[in-house]
Amino acid sequence: MYINGEWRNALSKKSFESINPATGEVIDTVPDGNAEDATLAIDAANNAFPSWAGKTAYERSAILYKAWQLMIQRKGELARLMTIEQGKPLRAAANETQYAADFLLWYAEEAKRVYGETIPSARGDQRFIISKAPVGVVAAITPWNYPISMLTRKLGPALAAGCTVVLKPAEATPLCAIAVYKILEEAGVPPGVINLVTAKDPKPIGDVFTSDPRIAKITFTGSTAVGRTLAKEAGHNLKRISMELGGHAPFIVWEDADPTHAAKGASLVKFLNTGQACISPNRMFVHENQAEAYVAELTSRVERLRAGNGLDDGIGIGPLVNEAAVAKVERQVEDARSKGAKVMCGGHRLMESGLDKGHFYAATVLTDVTPDMLIYREETFGPVAAVVPFRDGDDVLAMANDTPYGLAAYVYTNDIAKAMRTVEGLNFAIIGVNDINPTSAAAPFGGMKSSGLGREGGHEGIEEYLESKTAGFSI
Ligand code: ADP
Repeated sequence: MYINGEWRNALSKKSFESINPATGEVIDTVPDGNAEDATLAIDAANNAFPSWAGKTAYERSAILYKAWQLMIQRKGELARLMTIEQGKPLRAAANETQYAADFLLWYAEEAKRVYGETIPSARGDQRFIISKAPVGVVAAITPWNYPISMLTRKLGPALAAGCTVVLKPAEATPLCAIAVYKILEEAGVPPGVINLVTAKDPKPIGDVFTSDPRIAKITFTGSTAVGRTLAKEAGHNLKRISMELGGHAPFIVWEDADPTHAAKGASLVKFLNTGQACISPNRMFVHENQAEAYVAELTSRVERLRAGNGLDDGIGIGPLVNEAAVAKVERQVEDARSKGAKVMCGGHRLMESGLDKGHFYAATVLTDVTPDMLIYREETFGPVAAVVPFRDGDDVLAMANDTPYGLAAYVYTNDIAKAMRTVEGLNFAIIGVNDINPTSAAAPFGGMKSSGLGREGGHEGIEEYLESKTAGFSI
């Protein structure tokens, strides 16, 4: 753990293992922190806050810029660690590391653009000046699926704004978090400004974060269920929150779209990170006239995806995070099969050639998926493409919106007016139009409805860490 600028063990001296999900091997052990460790980390962040907030934006920017440079220099090394600890293929891990570094650069720049306002008063003898101030000590909780970029997406804007941070990474990927912290330390972040508490059991740490009066804000990325619990506790104690939660993305292919192009896009985005992404398409609504061509192209691409250890050449798809994740995918696929869905490829665990040592499920395409199936309703977080053919007259936008989630959506059409109407009609906050990667450090990312609150990235991302201060001057 990293507390007040020192690498240290848990007070209890306990530790836990980080395990390679592809091989089941122990990679390393890390300190198993508890509530007391979290409180020490908050002490440090609280003590460091005034001097960090008091630095100029230019000083904070220079440190983030240095961290960006270091992360780019170590991209290969970080990607390798990520593949070993999280499982995604090496190339995907390198792409994520680049995305992670992008946030450091973007917020090195945004640090210098935290502008206030002057506002005219109704009184001739009064002037209003609105300035921005950092919210204070931030508690961050991050997930395992994007174990480096989800840290920089929070640390970048928090540090740029002048906040100090205590972060608890996911118990499945503590080593990636440690690697990010080493970079920030080397870049010159002063002691106490960023603190890291690793723990096997997240709950006691979450309880400290939501109850300690010194924590001003909680930023969380993870499941809707955990986000709801944290938001409830944080709400009771009137802490600010940002919540980036689950999704259930629709992927709409209109009749005029090119089904081959759409299927190519779907095969790339659905199986990214083995489907373990909150923006992963979970329901593919395809016009019935295009469904056959779409499913054929998708199936032929998916059949060619090779599963295995992401360090090996030619691997297109890695393991799932754990046994529970495999069981969830199995349950959804069996349920769909029993209710009439057709399994075009996959549909089973992978046990051969040593894959039984990890958590592998075959890349799967299901078609004829209907609303009574679990997969139509639940986020899968696994490698299953579920195709729902629709007809003229079906209200596809209503079908797409028929979910508590509102994170990402995708639409394929060659008709600009239809594209615009679809974007306007979808209750989702991130929409790809003939595009499978509608994300960037420069653009806001976040969800509507049960997908969360607040935005990360872009100029909006730093606002989450700032208060507005109104000063009315009588002159
Ligand atoms: P997933 O189901 O995708 O693993 P989680 O929401 O369980 O998502 O995990 C996301 C992050 O939330 C992880 O860092 C995890 O340790 C943390 N977490 C899970 N439960 C709690 C809790 N009760 N309090 C605080 N953090 C939690």
